[in-house]
Amino acid sequence: MCRHLGYVGPAVPVGELLVRGPHSLRTQAWAPRDMRGGGTINADGFGVAWWHGGEPPVTRYRNPAPIWTDPAVEEVLPHLESTAVLAAVRSATIGMPVERSACAPFLHEQWAFSHNGVVPDWRTVSSAVLSDLDAAATRAGATRLLQTGDLLEAESATDSAALWVLLRRLLDPAAPRDLIASPLAALRLLVTTVVTHAPAARLNLLLGDGASLWATAWEHALSALVTDDYAVLASEPYDADPRWQSIPEHSVVRAEPGLLTVESLNNDPVTERAV
Ligand code: GLN
Repeated sequence: MCRHLGYVGPAVPVGELLVRGPHSLRTQAWAPRDMRGGGTINADGFGVAWWHGGEPPVTRYRNPAPIWTDPAVEEVLPHLESTAVLAAVRSATIGMPVERSACAPFLHEQWAFSHNGVVPDWRTVSSAVLSDLDAAATRAGATRLLQTGDLLEAESATDSAALWVLLRRLLDPAAPRDLIASPLAALRLLVTTVVTHAPAARLNLLLGDGASLWATAWEHALSALVTDDYAVLASEPYDADPRWQSIPEHSVVRAEPGLLTVESLNNDPVTERAV
């Protein structure tokens, strides 16, 4: 399964974050430690998004070739600086296309998104999830938050691109606040709805807006390194820093410098962790 990483903190070279640590994201592409049966290497491309306060607020670079073959990682990306970065290396799920448009991060307005996992039978499941979410939004007073044709907007014919179409609708300011009070609530609603239709789904989602990071751990690895100065969420720790925390299964988290909120997706109480 893919590996992803998000960073918010003092400005860093974008390329440095891809190679940071003895177990960097680039190393995790060919020697991941915790794939949990979802493939062995992440050779089907990579992508990195960074925020820069311009218009559009977030830009990305993607390549469908293995990250370790791309000289831009060492020759170009280190010359770009940003205070927020979201990156992913991809191992395509069987039957899904290997192409640049299938590589995360997916973007929309200020948002960048990555999915590490799989939605079995994703075409049928994403249509069913779309109608459930639309019904919930209609009950909460919104008219037609989601429409059947929306899934055609998916950038690639993959489960991850379809999930992004659904999630970005939930993040829309027009979405009913009673139902979706925050990005964390949007992730919770999406994951819990998908698993009602696809109980075997693996849904490690990672979302950023340039100031905060949100992620879910659902049948895949997720770790957090949060200090007063910076926050990192990553599929696997990139170094041996003892401050890395392993995020429990079935959680949704929000991270920013000085704050890590971990909430269970099984409806347990919220924990705010001191960092
Ligand atoms: N299913 C997604 C894809 O094919 C994500 C794959 C993964 O996590 N390995 O792009």
